Amino acid sequence: MEAVHGIVIVGGGICGLATALALHRKGIPSLVLEKSETLRTEGGSIGVHVNGWRVLEQLGVAPELRKTADVVTEFHDVWQQKQGNKSVVVPVRGELRWLKRRDLVETMAKNIPSGAIRFSCHIAAIRPANPGSHGVVLTTLDGSIIRAKALIGCDGSNSVVAKYLGLSPAKSTSRMLLRGYTRYPHGHPFGPHFLRLRGNGFFVGRSPMTDNLVNFFVALWHPGADATKDASAMKELVLEKLKGQCSDEIIEMVRDPEPDSLILLTKIWYRPPWQVMFSSFRRGTATVAGDAMHVMGSYIGQGGSASMEDALVLARSLSRAAAAAGGSGGDELCEKKISAAMGEYVRERRLRIVRLSLESFTMGTLLATKSLLTKLACFAILSLLGTASLGHTKYDCGRL
Ligand SMILES: Cc1cc2nc3c(=O)[nH]c(=O)nc-3n(C[C@H](O)[C@H](O)[C@H](O)COP(=O)(O)OP(=O)(O)OC[C@H]3O[C@@H](n4cnc5c(N)ncnc54)[C@H](O)[C@@H]3O)c2cc1C
Repeated sequence: MEAVHGIVIVGGGICGLATALALHRKGIPSLVLEKSETLRTEGGSIGVHVNGWRVLEQLGVAPELRKTADVVTEFHDVWQQKQGNKSVVVPVRGELRWLKRRDLVETMAKNIPSGAIRFSCHIAAIRPANPGSHGVVLTTLDGSIIRAKALIGCDGSNSVVAKYLGLSPAKSTSRMLLRGYTRYPHGHPFGPHFLRLRGNGFFVGRSPMTDNLVNFFVALWHPGADATKDASAMKELVLEKLKGQCSDEIIEMVRDPEPDSLILLTKIWYRPPWQVMFSSFRRGTATVAGDAMHVMGSYIGQGGSASMEDALVLARSLSRAAAAAGGSGGDELCEKKISAAMGEYVRERRLRIVRLSLESFTMGTLLATKSLLTKLACFAILSLLGTASLGHTKYDCGRL
């Protein structure tokens, strides 16, 4: 049993760290509880568009992160067809860079006060504190008890905090996505261009990260009976599939990735847009952010940036509440004010995350469906949402 903490964040991934850093920048202390023994830095790379960079600016880590990754200036979209390839070049609006997830996570973590992240702390259960109080009592897997005045669940798609709030579990669908990045010791020849190649039953993405590093992903729509859950074995299967259909440059890139960058995803997790629209994301002084709130397929590459937007908006709402209470957080923040600030955060985020979830859901449906009618409906929704022009990247969640 220990003292009652102020704000406790469950999960030390991109969202948990961004939330702790945003609160820290506003002078509000928090404690991050992470179940892994160390920072989880695996996970290849993450594409960050201009909306994500706006948040990183506000968190004060953008200049350092920009040094780790180059700007991507154009999309090269290619469709392989029987009668020859069709291709279109589209300029990237604003800033797009592919960061190593490790760089993003480590940079945020080192800007958070030491001791504010507690590792090997797996939260197994949550219950309300006393009747009449908004606080919560957290129980770890090894039976320790942690009390908190306020709780923020940044614990990903299988969130224990989301369960405490009464949210339905996230849904999943089977997909085969291989990701990694490849080193070119003498420099790569691809320029600042993001290639998106659609072929017969596959989709290859290739985007430079630096002069020597190139990020890639390959999605197979019908991997067949030989599909496996082992990334290296799956890589061989993917190479077989791409042989004769793709250039040697692509085959070599997929054949020789950096060993710790290769990841295989066989499931895509998502919260359907109607759940995001109607779920209650707050219970007393507990709320959720990031994938715990709105996990979405990686079709529009916005899950990470949307998580950082959540972090900024939530920290801003809490700091306003603290300022109104006459202090910089901690004890001055009474449970009633925290609860109201969390309500304000949920209201501010709702339409933004509904839009992103709808866009990602529609894109996933379009790629999977064989029905012409469903395809037409998907095209209509995506055109309304401005997906082709990356309308979702224009969003500015404002200053911290
Ligand atoms: C293949 C793929 C590609 C992607 N590409 C992009 C991209 O290009 N751009 C982009 O913006 N986004 C992308 N995303 C999405 C992005 O990676 C996620 O949206 C983002 O990482 C979510 O961060 P999070 O902190 O909410 O969740 P997570 O990263 O899942 O972190 C949750 C953390 O909580 C911890 N945890 C879980 N349960 C508990 C518990 N009970 N107790 C204590 N700790 C717990 C976990 O160990 C973990 O560290 C991609 C996602 C995938 C799958």
